[in-house]
Amino acid sequence: MKLHRFIINAALSSSIRIRDKELANQVGSVLRLKVGDRLIVCDGSMHEAEAIITSISKELVELSLGEIRRNIAEPDRKVILYLSILKGEHFEMAVEKATEAGVSEIIPIIADRTVKQGLREERIQKILKEAAEQSGRGRIPQLHEPQSFSDAVSHAELANSTNFFFHETGEPISMLHSVIGPTDSIGVFVGPEGGWNGPELVFIEKKIMEGKNIKVVTLGKRILRAETAAIIATYDTVNL
Ligand code: SAH
Repeated sequence: MKLHRFIINAALSSSIRIRDKELANQVGSVLRLKVGDRLIVCDGSMHEAEAIITSISKELVELSLGEIRRNIAEPDRKVILYLSILKGEHFEMAVEKATEAGVSEIIPIIADRTVKQGLREERIQKILKEAAEQSGRGRIPQLHEPQSFSDAVSHAELANSTNFFFHETGEPISMLHSVIGPTDSIGVFVGPEGGWNGPELVFIEKKIMEGKNIKVVTLGKRILRAETAAIIATYDTVNL
């Protein structure tokens, strides 16, 4: 049987005690694991180990750990997703799937056509953690504060070796294998439901003409919903 994974807020050693009501509830009440049962713990900094439950109460879980290993599922390439806040549950869904696809950081952006402005941060942090645990990752992707479009572009110019600006027209992403290395940091920009507006596209074209590290790329001829584009763009860029 596949063992359940937990990313915990503690350093790993041969025996650990974790005082965490939520974890104790998840392990003991939800999954009904008992003393002697096994699970996998990860410290969120790339270390993980198989563990046996040696004691469990409502707020304390004690574990005996096997060999501490380095996580192998984390991608070498760092992908930062700059995604417009989206209406309804769509931003949350995109963040969950982008985590499964291997995103490293998420920067919510407020573009001209962004409709919804606020985020439920606590809920998104929970989604990030659960998606990272479920997909076997060694780190939880980092969620940043929302930024304006222009601040996000300035951040991306400095933070990443290349930035892919996703738009319906542009170079096919599949043509770009040669421009990025296996351990590069890459920015992925995906716009709001209504797309980028004219001035934003002009702003990006100007940056490109100035020789900045931005490329306009397409995912094909069909117009995708923003959350679909965010998931596919992240997956493609992680694996390119
Ligand atoms: N402008 C469009 C819809 C935008 S879709 C319209 O209303 O007609 C929302 C975002 O998803 C876009 O800004 C873009 O970043 C991304 N996107 C959607 N389809 C895409 C495609 N085929 N190629 C690249 N990006 C795409």
